[in-house]
Formats: sequence, C-alpha cells, structure tokens
Amino acid sequence: MSTPVLDSNPSEELLADFPLELRRHLNITLGCESEPVDPSYVYRATALAVRDRLVDSWRRTQAKMHHSDQRKVFYLSLEFLIGRSLCNAIQNLDVDEEAHAAIHQYGLRLEEVAEQEYDAGLGNGGLGRLAACFLDSCANLKLPVVGYGIRYEYGMFNQRISDGRQIEEPDHWLRDGNPWEIERHEDARQIHFYGRVEHYHDANGKARTRWADCHDITAVPFDMPIPGYRNDTVNTLRLWKATASDAFNLTEFNAGSYTEAVAEKNLAENISMVLYPNDASENGKELRLKQQYFLVSASLQDVIAQWVEQHGEDFSEFGAKHCFQLNDTHPACAVPELMRLLIDEHGLEWDQAWKITTQCMAYTNHTLLPEALERWSVSLFSHLLPRLMEIVYEINARFLADVEKKWPGDTEMRRKMSLIEEGDHPHIRMAYLAIVGSFSVNGVAGLHTQLLKNGLFHDFYTLWPKKFNNKTNGVTQRRWLAHCNPGLRQLLDETIGSGWENDLSLIKNLHPYASDASFRERWREIKKANKERLAEAVMQRTGIAFDTSAMFDVQVKRIHEYKRQLLNTLHVIHLYDRIMRGDTEGMVPRCVLIGGKAAPGYHLAKLIVKLINDVSSTIKGDRRADELLKFVFYPNYRVSSMEIICPATELSEQISTAGKEASGTGNMKFMMNGALTIGTLDGANIEIRENAGEENFFLFGLDADGVQKTRLDYRPNEIIAADPDIQRIMQLLESGHFNRSEPGIFDVLSSGLRNPHDPWLTIADLRGYIDAQQKVSETYADPETWDRMSILNTAGSGWFSSDRTIQQYADEIWNVGPMA
Ligand SMILES: *Cc1c(COP(=O)(O)O)cnc(C)c1O
Repeated sequence: MSTPVLDSNPSEELLADFPLELRRHLNITLGCESEPVDPSYVYRATALAVRDRLVDSWRRTQAKMHHSDQRKVFYLSLEFLIGRSLCNAIQNLDVDEEAHAAIHQYGLRLEEVAEQEYDAGLGNGGLGRLAACFLDSCANLKLPVVGYGIRYEYGMFNQRISDGRQIEEPDHWLRDGNPWEIERHEDARQIHFYGRVEHYHDANGKARTRWADCHDITAVPFDMPIPGYRNDTVNTLRLWKATASDAFNLTEFNAGSYTEAVAEKNLAENISMVLYPNDASENGKELRLKQQYFLVSASLQDVIAQWVEQHGEDFSEFGAKHCFQLNDTHPACAVPELMRLLIDEHGLEWDQAWKITTQCMAYTNHTLLPEALERWSVSLFSHLLPRLMEIVYEINARFLADVEKKWPGDTEMRRKMSLIEEGDHPHIRMAYLAIVGSFSVNGVAGLHTQLLKNGLFHDFYTLWPKKFNNKTNGVTQRRWLAHCNPGLRQLLDETIGSGWENDLSLIKNLHPYASDASFRERWREIKKANKERLAEAVMQRTGIAFDTSAMFDVQVKRIHEYKRQLLNTLHVIHLYDRIMRGDTEGMVPRCVLIGGKAAPGYHLAKLIVKLINDVSSTIKGDRRADELLKFVFYPNYRVSSMEIICPATELSEQISTAGKEASGTGNMKFMMNGALTIGTLDGANIEIRENAGEENFFLFGLDADGVQKTRLDYRPNEIIAADPDIQRIMQLLESGHFNRSEPGIFDVLSSGLRNPHDPWLTIADLRGYIDAQQKVSETYADPETWDRMSILNTAGSGWFSSDRTIQQYADEIWNVGPMA
C-alpha cells in the first residue's frame, strides 16, 4: 500500500457547502447542465459529494492503522453483501439535512435518488451479509480491521419471474461506474497458477523450493470506504480484480501474437468475473478454486509487503501482530499459502512458519450441511496449485503424527481425521485444513457450536478443546433499524434517547413502555406506515393488493429445502382450504409473503418457487379468499428489498428443520423491528426466544435431538392418513389444483414429503406448525396483546447487535482494542 501520511492538513477546507458541491459534481464532474436532471445523475453527484466528505477521515484512519504497532485483523471473505452505500454514508457522516436540502434543489427526494444505486450484491445470503455487518461494526468500534474480498464484475444474479418460474439475469452492477471505489494500481500483486515445483540449493547451499513455469495473473485492488458511525473512522474493504499480467503479455507480443495477447487479458479477467450463486452448497469448479486462491494470495502478499516495508525481513513478531479471520472454508488456502510465502519467498524454516501461521489464523464455521463442506479433488488442486499441494501433504503428515501420539496405534482415527479423504479420487477436506491451521474455531450460535463440538468436529474438539468457541451472529442496528425504520428510530430517540445507535443494550429500556397504551398506539401507527410502504412495493412488483389491516406474515431468505418454504406453503394451502370449506371461524386476515433466490442449478428449490407462484395465482383468482388471504412471491429479494420488508413485518417465519440453520440473521433483523417469530428451536432462534421471553415467541416442532430420533422411524404417510387437515392439504397439492395446465409437475415435491427418508421432516412438524399458526391468529386478534409482545421483542433484541458480536471477536479471538 502506498504509505499514507499522518497529516494535519484536512482537505475539508477545500469543500464548499453540500448543495454547492453537489451542483459542482453534476455540472463539472458529470457534465450535466440542463434541468430537469435525471435522478441517476443526481445519485452519482450526491455519492461523489458524500465521498469527498469521507476521504479525509479515510486517509487518517489508514495512516493510523499503518503507523500503529498494535495487532491488525484481516477479514477474508469470498462474499460481502453490502447493498447500497449512499444512505448509510449520509447517516454515518451525519449530513442528512444538508443532503436532503441539496437534492431538493432538483425537485427530488433523497429516497428517490438513493433508489438509483445498484445493490452491491457481492454475496449469496447470510454469510455475505454477516461480513458486511461485521465491517460496519468494526468501523463503529474503531477496530483496526480490513476486509479483503473479490470485486466481482457480476454480483448475485437478478431474479425475474416468468410463468411462475425463476429466470436468472446477469447483475452488471458496475455498468454506470462505482463512485465508492478507488483503484490502487500501485498495490497490484502477482498470483501464480499451474506450473511445477522445483527444489534447488541457493547460493549458501541451503535447500529451497520454488514454483516454476507458472502462469501469472495480476490482482489489482479497489478500495471501498467503510464509515464508522459519527466517529471520524473510515475503515477499508479492499476488493481484488483480476487482469492479465504485463509480463505474460510481453512474451505473447514478442511472439507476434498481438490479438492472442489481448484475448489473454479476457481469460485472466474471468477469475473475478462472476460470483458463484450457490448458498450452502459447494461447487467444485476449477474457476471457483482459482477465485479462492486469488483472493488469499493477493491479500496475504499485501499484508506481508506492508510488514516488510516497516520491519524488513524480521518475521519474529508477525504472528503476534496479525490475525486473519476466515469466513468459512472458502479462504482456507490461506493456511498453506502463508506457509509458502514465509518459506519460499522469505526464507523461513518450516517450524517458524508453522508457528506464525497457527498464531494468526482463525476459522469461522457456518454450516453443518454435508453438501456445503468444501472438498477439493487432489488432482485438480495439484494441477492448479502444485506447490500448495506439497505443503498440504506436509501439514497432514505432521498432523497425523500428532494424532498417532494422542491415539497410539489407532489407524481408524488417522483415516477419519486426515486432511485427505482417501479413495479412488482423493479429496482435501478444507474444514479440517482450516481447523488444523487455526488457533480459533468458532460456530455462529450457541446450538451450532454445541453441534460442532459434539458432532461434525468431535475428534478435533477432543484433541484441542480450547480452540473451539461460540460467537453468536448479530446485525448492525444502524442499517437494520436506524436507516430502514425512520419512524421507529424517531420514537426510540424520543423515549430512550439516541445512545442505542452505538450501544444496542440500551434498547432494554423500552421494556416498561410495553404496558403503556398510548405508546402502543404510536408503535402501531409506525408499523402501519411501514406496511403501507411495503404494500406499495408488493403492488408494483406483483399486482397483488396487500390490505394493511391484515397480518403481514413474511419468510424471506434463500430458497432451500432445509429452510422449509414448503412448510410455509402447506400452511397457506391449509388456510385456503379452510376458506373454500367456509371454516373461517377465528381466522384473521393475512398477507403472506415469501421471497428469495434459488441457486440456478438447484432444481427442487426452483420448483418450490414455481409452486409458491402457482398457489399465489390460484388464491388471487379465487374471490372467496379476497378478504382473508393474500399470498405473494416477492421477486429479486436482496438487501435493498429487506430494508422495506423487515420494518413492515409482523410475523417472522424461521421454520428450518432443527439443527440445520447455523444461526440465521434475518430472524434478528425482524425481531429488532418488532416482528414476533414463529420458529423452531434452531440456530439463533433459541437465543431470540430467551431474550424475548418464551411467552413472546411462537414455538413449534421437533428440536435437534428430536429430529435425530424421529429419523430412525419416520412414517409420514401414517401422519398424513391420521390427520384430516393434512390429508386435505396433500389432496389439494396432489390433485393438480394449482397446476391444471401442467399436470404432475409438483409430484416430486409431494413424494418428497411422503418419503420416510425425507431429511427435512416437513410432515413431522406440520401439525405443530398449523397449531402454532392458530395461536398466532388468536393473539393477533387482540392488538393490545400483540403490540405488547412486539415491543418486548424489540426491547429484547440488544444481544443481536453485530457490535456485541464483534466486541466478542475482538476480546476473545483477535485480542485487539480500538485504534488510538
Ligand atoms: C439478512 C439477509 C439474509 C440472511 O437471511 P436468513 O433468514 O438468516 O437466511 C439473506 N439475504 C439478505 C438479502 C439478507 O439481508
């Protein structure tokens, strides 16, 4: 990184007032003169004017971090699901009023202008959004943390619905440029691929290793500012873009192949071209492994170059002064890559290098789903990263010697724990590599960490109990409450003061207001206004009219069998069936909304999207349901959609099969905004229920133990036959009522439900779910009770701030404090 200087010459002096700056960017930077001005130009000019106000603190924060002697943390993640940046920056810089006034000059409102920004959708779902919330909290707490990721040219695909089916469209989010990024050519790094390993003796006769005949790609960093909340701190997210290396082009040029050399540039740029759209399932594609290694190598070289610039080749303190937090196993190549850089490039011995590596790597596990555990084939890995493969073998040999010491003569234990899964096609177990190479392994909710210790990683836990720890996820209240729910923000400021924006534990002070009838009245009005905003968005996107006096019942998240959008849909079919039969006693009107993307190759998930849309159309076409039931699929669910959805939600659906959802974070956003949860004892739901009070949570279903036991003898067909409600639901689904023009398309869904080996046990939980939903309806019928429970949910949400989570990472894993 170019050495930033600590200066006392703030460029703030160069800035005029906000309205003038906006006009200058419009007229001069963007060359816009005539009015009315296109809102997209106003967006870009506003973003540039805001960025101008960030730059000074940004440079000063970078200089502080650069010159500081304290430990630094690097958050390595293949995903950062940032969403929009404009309003976040305006809020954190405290320039709301100026920005409003400046935009008003052009007859526009900030909300309209902000909508011009494409979401930075550089992530799939919870894991990527967590990384974005974490960076926000790190900046808020002034922690010396840099995020490292990939600058995908195409982010998460845009989802369109045609004939009820998901269509994927490319997300060219950089089309109009990105006002938030700054390219840093001077910090470009070279990344090796392919080639072979060469052992040789250096001038001193020392045995050395080098990676020869490799194909180099250049990694160019683009920095994005991460502003803290009104605290003069602006941290950095550094995203790498792949380009052809100049050296490679030169050989092609010399061979007279001009066009081939230019074409090569395109091939190189493939590495950072597109985000893989699989959530919670591994991919196995060579390009994906290239992305992982590309991120890791560029980032580690970047950190080492800064160290060498300040400390020369003395690495004795390197381990103590750095921490790399691995967001899942996606960046787990960091373990062998740091070894390679220290040994091959900087001449350290194996033992020294291993001590450093295991002193500074920390691994976060995000899932127990077997299909999501990354395994790379040894043949692919050796071909692409031959030197890393050698190092992994060496790490494994030494590790298995330790296993042998702990369990002498136990060959089965060595086979089970090996980093290499043997067989016809051996694979590297990336989670095991991450555990062996790290000093900390954490899960993301209490239950999840327990299941890691007792199940998936039990042998490793027995070997190294102190490595394992829990860090329950959180979300930033600045985006997920202050920004997205201005009505509630105002009410909170008036009642408990404004400190909650930095310290969400203060939100417990709301507790006594739950019993204040006039406060509940205001609470209700705010929710109503938020529901109106969502109803407009629903109408615009689906043509379905949501009635704002009905209950808003919402499930938005990636479409996955374990999340059980199918269970939700079966309940909707049950309500529809009751309406058709005239059995509407005690029913309250509901508007049910489901949204989320299915991975393009996940056929069952895409079929579930189709079912939701077909049930939605059937209900829409039936006048008898008009008063009591609306059901929509909300297309293209993303961060900016959630900002409208979660403040308007009254019932949050968190209904995964127990033991499958590691934590969930959507559940926390809803709770903060006063939704009540209907949910299973899974992930962070357990902690949500404890913090809200069990009487303020609608619990149903098997717990994680019950799930395991039920699997041994599960007979869904008997459950169906014995329950007339469930029988009628299945009858409607199987009779083709929702797919008259496409007979049989949903058969694979109904036979899955009836299969004794259904891993998701949907039918096992259906009766409990229907009954819990009935309780929800009865409670909703009494608004005073409902609103009291709603307030108690918000009041209990303090634990779920990512500020709390990050404070625990800082204290218990990273051992860092705020920048001086
Ligand atoms: C919060 C969030 C998620 C995670 O939702 P879960 O319900 O925890 O799976 C996924 N996508 C987006 C856009 C989000 O904002």
